[in-house]
Amino acid sequence: MIRIGPAGIPLSCKERTNIDGIIYTRCLGLSAMEIRFSRAFVSEEEARQIKKAAKKSGIEICVHAPYYINLAGDEKNVKMSVEKIEKSLHLANLMGARIITTHLGFYGGLSKKETMKRIVKNLREIRNRAMKKGKTLIGLETMGKKEVFGSIEEIVEVCKRVRGTVPVLDMAHIHARGNGCLREKEDIQRIFDMVESLNLNHYLIHITGVKYDSSGELYHTPIKKGDFPVIKLMECILENGYDVTIISESPLVEHDAIYAQILLDRAMEMIK
Ligand SMILES: [Zn+2]
Repeated sequence: MIRIGPAGIPLSCKERTNIDGIIYTRCLGLSAMEIRFSRAFVSEEEARQIKKAAKKSGIEICVHAPYYINLAGDEKNVKMSVEKIEKSLHLANLMGARIITTHLGFYGGLSKKETMKRIVKNLREIRNRAMKKGKTLIGLETMGKKEVFGSIEEIVEVCKRVRGTVPVLDMAHIHARGNGCLREKEDIQRIFDMVESLNLNHYLIHITGVKYDSSGELYHTPIKKGDFPVIKLMECILENGYDVTIISESPLVEHDAIYAQILLDRAMEMIK
């Protein structure tokens, strides 16, 4: 199954609540939506209502934890980050979300090895407590800036070392970090091959256009303004029959989710 949807409430949805966003997303013909905790958390009551609305509309809910997370930082940083991830997980469980997406942290002055060690240790503790509470998986996002922990290799290694975590394949971030490395279908296939050993039966994928330089990601752009080939991603997904959820993190939130849906339909036509 291939589900596509916006990150956050669609821009053109007049009422700015998550519930209206879900209904509106359905009306646009999309099938997933990411609830973002970038500005504020929702209440437990709202989380329960989101679950009901999503079920009724047939929308798959994903959750994004607050952006500023550092599981490799000092004690205060780690404590704050753990609290944010655990609160997101709790609410995501109430919403019936399959996965929460989180960032992991920064190298700061640490070696890559030490950063990895700290992140794995802290994540294991979160995972141990989370497994007793619900089914929502912890999704680890591939990051676009080179100073931030989260290359595809690092994310795969953490997923191997911390069971109960899955990669979130932010294709634009992988593309930007690799200085525009995803050009052909084979390049995208290589990314799926890298996560094959994790034996996943579903992939959460983020897409957007992206500007980058030698330091990696600079900023997100509309899909058409970037050079990440979304159509080739769609071909790759279709040829392999992958089960995926694709979230548009483009500044043209729902516009680019619909554009991705059109590219998928076009790729289907070409395969026929
Ligand atoms: Zn993110």
